[in-house]
Amino acid sequence: MAGRPGAGSRGRNEPGQEHHPAADELVRPPAGQHVDVRLTASNGYRAERSYSIASPPEDGRLTLTVERVRDGEVSSYLLDELRVGDDLEFRGPIGGYFVWSRNHGGPICLIAGGTGITPLMAMLRHREKSSDATPALLIYSARSLADVVYRKELDAMASRDDDLRLVYALTREQPSDWLGHCGRIDEALLAGHCFPREQNPTSFVCGPTDFVESIARMLVRLGFDPLTIKTERFGPSGG
Ligand SMILES: Cc1cc2nc3c(=O)[nH]c(=O)nc-3n(C[C@H](O)[C@H](O)[C@H](O)COP(=O)(O)OP(=O)(O)OC[C@H]3O[C@@H](n4cnc5c(N)ncnc54)[C@H](O)[C@@H]3O)c2cc1C
Repeated sequence: MAGRPGAGSRGRNEPGQEHHPAADELVRPPAGQHVDVRLTASNGYRAERSYSIASPPEDGRLTLTVERVRDGEVSSYLLDELRVGDDLEFRGPIGGYFVWSRNHGGPICLIAGGTGITPLMAMLRHREKSSDATPALLIYSARSLADVVYRKELDAMASRDDDLRLVYALTREQPSDWLGHCGRIDEALLAGHCFPREQNPTSFVCGPTDFVESIARMLVRLGFDPLTIKTERFGPSGG
């Protein structure tokens, strides 16, 4: 690496130049979108990565959820070095396809792998904050209960909402009294929990690339219309 990237300062909007939105322009994007975070080192070296937005449009602030990637350039910087008061350079919000808003209609089936929960969390928060009663199912695959991001909030949300169902799939480690699903999400789990095809649910699948592709294939095999399956892959997003 040619130099240590750091948080850049927010630029100004000049004609013909890249748009640098002020923070208040960024904070009300539809649930499901992401931003690109750009770090610039003093020698001009730049690193840019995508991060989904966890906060709902109602929130008035932008929340990101960053998972530590071993030897990761940008995730390590954001988790270890970024300090309160530092400027960060963003591009976005980006993405008009993987979004959900309260007037969408039909049940929603949200399927998350790991930090893939992030944009789905924005959708669930938006659904709750806008008092939307769209029936919703979240199937969330994590290594262990401790790895379930937002667990407290999700459990609380489901406990006060009969139209929201939560299913955790724990792949590596389960508590001794665990009655939920053990192992990866499989076709039987999807078939047992997803809304019936006749209800025309929309599925939002987010997580690592291989996770997303395998879930999408299973949903198609179960007879769901591919056009109703929206995917977001958290693959490496470098630059
Ligand atoms: C649309 C989109 C949204 C995303 N949203 C989020 C989010 O909300 N939260 C979040 O934590 N991440 C998210 N990511 C992933 C994120 O953009 C970065 O790829 C991740 O933080 C790693 O960047 P890094 O600079 O730390 O690692 P790098 O320095 O780029 O990579 C270090 C090593 O890790 C590998 N690697 C890179 N990225 C990943 C990855 N995602 N999974 C496994 N191995 C990887 C690389 O191949 C390399 O070997 C998203 C990606 C996309 C495309």
